[in-house]
Amino acid sequence: MFVDAALVALVLMVGLAGSLGAYRLLSLKALAQEREQLNAMGQRVAGTFEHRLMRIVEALQAAGRMLSAQPELTHEQFMRYGSGLVADASLLALLEWQPIVPHEQLAEFERRAAREQPGYRVLEPGRPGGDLVAAQAREFHLPVHYSWPEDDAAIGVDMAFDPRRMRSKLLARDAGFPMASEVFPVIRRGPPADIRSGIAVSAPVYRTPRPPSPEARRRELRGFLAGVVELPTLMAEVVRLADASGLDVFVFDQQEANKLIYASRTGEPSGSNERDLTLSVDAGGRPWQLLLRPRPGALGAEADRTPLAVLVAGSLATLLVALAVARSVIVRRRLERTEAVLAEDRQHLSNVIDGTAAGTWDWHLDSDRLVVNERWAQMLGYTRAELEPVTGKTWEGLCHAGDLVEAKESLKRHFGGQEERYAAEFRMRHADGHWVWVQSSGRVFERSADGRPLRLAGTHLDISHRKAHERRLHDDARALEAANRQLRDLAIQDALTGAFNRRHFDAVCLAALDDARHGRGVGLCMLDVDHFKAYNDRYGHQAGDAVLRAFVLTLKNGLMRSTDAVFRLGGEEFGVIFSAPSAAAARQFVGRLSAAVHELALPHEDSPHRIVTASFGLAWWGAPTPQLTPEAMYATADEALYAAKRAGRDQIVTRCFLVGDGEVAVPGGT
Ligand code: GH3
Ligand code: MG
Ligand code: MG
Repeated sequence: MFVDAALVALVLMVGLAGSLGAYRLLSLKALAQEREQLNAMGQRVAGTFEHRLMRIVEALQAAGRMLSAQPELTHEQFMRYGSGLVADASLLALLEWQPIVPHEQLAEFERRAAREQPGYRVLEPGRPGGDLVAAQAREFHLPVHYSWPEDDAAIGVDMAFDPRRMRSKLLARDAGFPMASEVFPVIRRGPPADIRSGIAVSAPVYRTPRPPSPEARRRELRGFLAGVVELPTLMAEVVRLADASGLDVFVFDQQEANKLIYASRTGEPSGSNERDLTLSVDAGGRPWQLLLRPRPGALGAEADRTPLAVLVAGSLATLLVALAVARSVIVRRRLERTEAVLAEDRQHLSNVIDGTAAGTWDWHLDSDRLVVNERWAQMLGYTRAELEPVTGKTWEGLCHAGDLVEAKESLKRHFGGQEERYAAEFRMRHADGHWVWVQSSGRVFERSADGRPLRLAGTHLDISHRKAHERRLHDDARALEAANRQLRDLAIQDALTGAFNRRHFDAVCLAALDDARHGRGVGLCMLDVDHFKAYNDRYGHQAGDAVLRAFVLTLKNGLMRSTDAVFRLGGEEFGVIFSAPSAAAARQFVGRLSAAVHELALPHEDSPHRIVTASFGLAWWGAPTPQLTPEAMYATADEALYAAKRAGRDQIVTRCFLVGDGEVAVPGGT
């Protein structure tokens, strides 16, 4: 659990750190590229600035040198230079000749100048915003003598009034080459609002060409050729170039305490920006500083979305990977749980199989392979290895041929879908040779697309004990049945002779009466052995018993129908129930019984006939009424029997009733 969470956290951490690292690296690279690009751009911008300023400086230097070679400069000559120079360095807003005039020569200078330019006066600005006034007295004056274009407002203005303007000029004088002034408002004709900032580049003009030393240059100075360039003009090309690259340009005059002299857009450059590029340019004898600031969205670094895209894509990919890892962890856990449950189920199943001591089998019907467990083989006294390879044929070979048919029938019914399960009981041959009763049950659990069974699996249970028990039960049941039957027979039979006993007499008598009511006559004959006491006395009791058995046998042999029956009613007294259609037929039947007794001819020395005889009392009913009872029949026959005894023994006395109890005489009866 903890390890899994740690793994996901690790993936997240590594992925996010990697994404962040890549972002940082790419950002730095982009920044470096931007820096390089900015540097290249800055070099071009600064180069352009320097180049433009230098063009003016060089043009003025060349012009200054030419003037140094001439003793006089006339208005006409200046105009020629002026137009040439301005045409050449088209940046110049105006060009002025500013001769140096010592104060004592001022009046003379003004007079001469006025000859060429009527009304010429040397002047200087009075109160701020006020008119020009006559120049104050000072060591020397530096009036604008000639100006190109000519109509410029500065003609006559003494530049010496402004020490700031003078500073660059004096430097130029000493150095011997043109110097740029600090920025000042350009004095021009026109509306006051039109005042623009500009720079003056002053080239010194000497009386002799190239004075060798600063002292010589001071001595020989004649004046200055001053070219004024307005900052917007000077900067136009620079700004255009910078603008095309998305840069704002700020120019500082380093000599003037780094004063901002130009901004390509209004306002100071607020604060400092790490993307700023500062370049120093030394031109016109002044150190300038150019500050280039990429506008928001300009250049590559900021516009380049690659690092951000990499960061976002990396983070997303990390998240996806972390999700995938988490998912796989969850899936693995679920799998582990499922496996645990399966293992438990397997154990449970194994316990159940163990507990039931069941053999298991899995029949691959196509290949006939039968996968069985050890118990399957053990049940038959084998190890599984001894039986391998186990197939359907192995089973058939071990199965009792007599049981195999029924088992195969059950299989067929299950395959055909008539029965939900296959179930059979059969004997299988044990390795010892005896038979083992097996209960087999199973079910098809795999079928082909067309419904053909492919695999069938189930169990074998050894039911030999149950079968033995069943057989014992079966045998016991049969024995019990026989005993019962015997008991039943004993209950209704006389043990000595096998004739029915007196208890059974009523039941048979009632059945006979029932038969008789369907139109058949019924007879009851009772007989008693004559002088039997004397027989016992002479021949012994056992011999007497033998006589009784012989009598019963003789009577039974004489019976005509299955419904006729012989009873032992007392010691040596018997009864015969029989059906007879007529009184005569009944008389004949009893006559035959009496004859059969005579034919036995059992010797009896103490009897008048010297053989054992019996007396018979016969009662017959042609159509018995419902009122006739066994007791009534018994009494009637008994009375007839005693009548026979009284009449001398060994004879038949008959009582006949056609309907109810109305007695009729029977022909031939005694
Ligand atoms: P009668 O001609 O008048 O019938 O003379 P009897 O001697 O037969 O008549 P009695 O009724 O006096 O005698 C019946 C004898 O039958 C008495 C008895 O010893 C004998 N007896 C009864 N039952 C059995 C038996 O089961 N076995 C044997 N051996 N003798 C029996
Ligand atoms: Mg008797
Ligand atoms: Mg007797």
